[in-house]
Amino acid sequence: MKPLQPTLYELADDGHSLNFFFAQCSACGGLSFPANAPGCMHCGEPLSQATRITRPGGGELLEFVTLHVPLLPGMAAPSIAGDIRIAPGIVEEGVMAVADESALKHGMAVRAVAEVKPEEGVYACRFVPVNEGAAQ
Ligand SMILES: [Zn+2]
Repeated sequence: MKPLQPTLYELADDGHSLNFFFAQCSACGGLSFPANAPGCMHCGEPLSQATRITRPGGGELLEFVTLHVPLLPGMAAPSIAGDIRIAPGIVEEGVMAVADESALKHGMAVRAVAEVKPEEGVYACRFVPVNEGAAQ
């Protein structure tokens, strides 16, 4: 099973959570995502010398919206897209793996988990509320 986007994340040791790859700037110490970005998101320093950092994927859910048409070909609709602050100054759009918006709140902690697509031999990144993951 391979990651759908191997430059962005990998399966964590628990076999379900995802770790995200960041680049830590040698000049200002800030994290950039994705790790293969050409320059630091904070100060613009080239990231060719940057340290690669692996951290558990997740963060703070800032906004979310239900999409009634697929965001990408093959994606289920309706689906819920969220803006997640995955590190200071870094906000990424992600797909929320919840039944509907009633499970979500602005500012809640979410974490990245793998959604396995066996027919394609890959896993994709989805976000779930942290407390929901702990309950299972
Ligand atoms: Zn920097």
